[in-house]
Amino acid sequence: MQIVNSPQEMQKLSLKWRELGQRIAFVPTMGALHEGHLSLLREARRIGDKLVISIFVNPTQFSPNEDLSKYPRDKDGDLVSARDCKVDAVYFPTEEDMYPKGHQTFVEVAKMTKGLCGARRPTHFRGVTTVVLKLFNIVQPHVALFGEKDFQQLAVVRTMVRDLNLPIEIIGMPIVRDSDGLALSSRNAYLSPTERISVPCISKSLKIAQKMVISGEKDAKKVINIVKTTIESEKSVKIDYIEICDSNTLESQSVINGEARLLIAAHIGKTRLIDNCRL
Ligand code: AMP
Repeated sequence: MQIVNSPQEMQKLSLKWRELGQRIAFVPTMGALHEGHLSLLREARRIGDKLVISIFVNPTQFSPNEDLSKYPRDKDGDLVSARDCKVDAVYFPTEEDMYPKGHQTFVEVAKMTKGLCGARRPTHFRGVTTVVLKLFNIVQPHVALFGEKDFQQLAVVRTMVRDLNLPIEIIGMPIVRDSDGLALSSRNAYLSPTERISVPCISKSLKIAQKMVISGEKDAKKVINIVKTTIESEKSVKIDYIEICDSNTLESQSVINGEARLLIAAHIGKTRLIDNCRL
């Protein structure tokens, strides 16, 4: 497994692999790897000849009042996981390489970044698309894998790739959950033991919504109300948003159809959690 620290070195390696006709699969992450990340790596290993992971806590996707400085970091553990998943190259970008002095170029997906998490985190997706495009230019993958856990991010990246004609296949991977339903996230490490006991109400509410829709409910408002009541049964969990949207455009739906996605964000203490499911 190669450890790569500079964009030039990464590009050189990727170009060499490309010349040999090898298919490069890429998983961008912010590290503190858990089973959710590993599911992406395993699938990437299966479909690619070469597997690259990047580990970079990207400052431009955090706003000044967010958790950038305390975001979990575990370089040694990540290297063990990467080795276990038979990664070919781990790329650790440096902040100076990603945002050199005078950096002033950003990429923005205009519309679908305005709602949901984008409404609460106005500069977040601009940071995500900018770093993802930079990583694509550096790693030059044929295929990149993203988790449905960050569903808006996946939709935004797909839109950027389509709109900018990037020759990269984007694969969305199912959400990996703990045994009680909580979606795995690096931010779960922030939860106190009592908070951890409360938060499965979020995934439980998704299951209830799915059952309602399977039984024929098409009224988004009715489903959202039940989801709200289920989450509010845990007093410590504060809802940020509950929305039912079209999976591709992320436009709000009032009548649920085959393409609907239920998306939730909630706060518990100082931690913000997101989750979603297909309806
Ligand atoms: P992050 O390190 O949080 O930026 O996540 C890196 C990638 O892993 C993103 O594409 C996430 O959507 C994905 N991911 C994170 N948690 C999960 C999960 N529980 N299940 C599936 N994918 C996940």
